Amino acid sequence: MTYIKENLLEIKNTLPSGVTLVAVSKTKPVSDLREAYDAGQRVFGENKVQEMCDKHEVLPKDIEWHMIGHLQSNKVKYMASFVHLIHGVDSAKLLKEISKQAIKNERVINCLLQVHVAMEETKFGFSLEEIKDFVFNQFTEEEYPSVKIVGLMAMASNTEDEQQVTREFESVKAIFESLKSEKLNPFIEMEHLSMGMSGDYLQAIKCGSTMVRVGSSIFGNRNYNL
Ligand SMILES: *Cc1c(COP(=O)(O)O)cnc(C)c1O
Repeated sequence: MTYIKENLLEIKNTLPSGVTLVAVSKTKPVSDLREAYDAGQRVFGENKVQEMCDKHEVLPKDIEWHMIGHLQSNKVKYMASFVHLIHGVDSAKLLKEISKQAIKNERVINCLLQVHVAMEETKFGFSLEEIKDFVFNQFTEEEYPSVKIVGLMAMASNTEDEQQVTREFESVKAIFESLKSEKLNPFIEMEHLSMGMSGDYLQAIKCGSTMVRVGSSIFGNRNYNL
């Protein structure tokens, strides 16, 4: 058995049922994805549109492709025909473009709104206050006719301080639950809470994550210099 299969099976064994594993395959060769596929993995996450399109082209068509990274509006069109879920929707402008491209492709594209809770300035997303305002006051079917918001996504601070990370995950879980309990329009349904990466996914699950995005623990470290 290869290390990819071993890692994958080991991680799957630790996940409670109901938690979806997104195998984050960015920078990795198609042969690595195929190994994971052969071990049963069907959900893959990429953070570059071009790379995702190239891999989609050559790999089996029953793979669910998730866009997990920061996304530029002008790239949406390249993946609009097949992307299964866009995790990092962080602005109204981006959501507008996703809706426009979804209409062109005669489909509805599922999206997660990204919530900014980490200490780092560089992490994208709506603040906890902004997200409420957006969901309650701005997101309407007329404005965004072909997108569906199916949950939230967040990244915790990159820190050794586990309590800090837990606090951040818990604050996202709280807003997720509060939005879930509201009667919102039919194009918002809080089903998925995407939190947790290789370093913190077990913690994220304890805090209520339903979808973890794990890369290096499956495929090994990434070498960006290749
Ligand atoms: C790369 C990436 C991951 C996976 O990171 P690992 O630490 O390798 O598990 C998860 N989420 C996002 C948004 C990423 O860009």
